[in-house]
Amino acid sequence: MKIYVATHNAHKLREIGEILPGFEIVADDPDAEETENTFAGNALIKVRAIAAKHRGDWAMADDSGLEVDALGGAPGVRSARYAGEPSSTPANNALLLKNLEGVADRAARFSCAIALVDPAGREHVVEGHCPGRIATEPSGAAGFGYDPLFIPDGHDRSFADLGDVEKNKISHRGRALAAAKAIMVEYTAK
Ligand code: IMP
Repeated sequence: MKIYVATHNAHKLREIGEILPGFEIVADDPDAEETENTFAGNALIKVRAIAAKHRGDWAMADDSGLEVDALGGAPGVRSARYAGEPSSTPANNALLLKNLEGVADRAARFSCAIALVDPAGREHVVEGHCPGRIATEPSGAAGFGYDPLFIPDGHDRSFADLGDVEKNKISHRGRALAAAKAIMVEYTAK
């Protein structure tokens, strides 16, 4: 089964492929501005932008980010551009550590919303979350974005230390994709 996915982020595409084996994943460019202030709203903007081109197939978009309690939920929907444009992972991670200097409460969570348009044109939205905390220094080489700074609950190592296989089992995107997969499997079984 073919799914058009509204991202060119190679890390996300690989994670999606690992979680949805057997599906043919095709990247497409949403070419749409993310103007909503929720992950679900932005995922819907992106999926609608590509679904119009691929009627009769599945279309999928995700929007995700990191929400830190002590920062009032920031960086949130601005996670990719937290330190400004153009998006820079080293700058984002450095700013996050700076803004949490001396802060004891480092609770945070990753969130991911996935919007789907099924072959009949109906929209579905699912979400996944992963609670954890922000480390005081980066660790690990796997993953992307804030992974070296995020320690999921129940672990004492960062997502970047744990690696993709362990991360996918508990991550926000892994959980949202499992819910998306259930919708796709149920649709196909009808
Ligand atoms: P999006 O492409 O608009 O969903 O931007 C999400 C941003 O949130 C990314 O650029 C990363 O900074 C961050 N992010 C989302 N998911 C993850 C993850 O699994 N690991 C690390 N950072 C993530």
